[in-house]
Amino acid sequence: MTEKITVEEGDITRQNVDAIVNAANTTLLGGGGVDGAIHRAAGPMLKEECRKLGGCITGDAKITKGYKLPAKYVIHTVGPVWRGGDFNEDNLLASCYFKSLKLAVENGIKTIAFPSISTGIYGFPFERAAKIAIKTVREFLKSAPLIEKVIFVCFSNGDYTTYRKLLDME
Ligand code: ADP
Repeated sequence: MTEKITVEEGDITRQNVDAIVNAANTTLLGGGGVDGAIHRAAGPMLKEECRKLGGCITGDAKITKGYKLPAKYVIHTVGPVWRGGDFNEDNLLASCYFKSLKLAVENGIKTIAFPSISTGIYGFPFERAAKIAIKTVREFLKSAPLIEKVIFVCFSNGDYTTYRKLLDME
């Protein structure tokens, strides 16, 4: 199962996969961080489609086309804002990965790239988030044989090293 999971350092907007996941906010109308980068790379049509979705609640996910991105689809998910750990943050973060993968299966997506949801502006501790991401994806893949590849895209070398360590790659 683990061989379907890989980690790469770089910009998620450059990924040649069926779908990239966006760490969006509840409005789905764009923001900073990876969200801003995805909207810039996809072009203004992405925002037009997002406008019609009526937002998204924390822990849920919605899908759009990828427009000018190499990826055919963008799956927008809303991670929890870190508030110290006692506000259901772990479960909400796991739900982001689960719901995104569920949408992927429903749309025939075989390859998907995730950023590290909630660990930027939303302040979720990186290693704790990465453990939840890996556990949720591994569990999901056990019953999703049609998904061929899940890539965790890390924006810094330190983040990349943490993922490799947690995935037992070194
Ligand atoms: P959130 O609001 O969910 O915390 P951010 O976009 O602020 O979302 O950060 C989520 C993660 O995405 C962080 O680890 C950040 O370093 C990373 N990130 C930012 N830009 C990119 C990008 N272009 N490609 C991949 N990861 C990115």
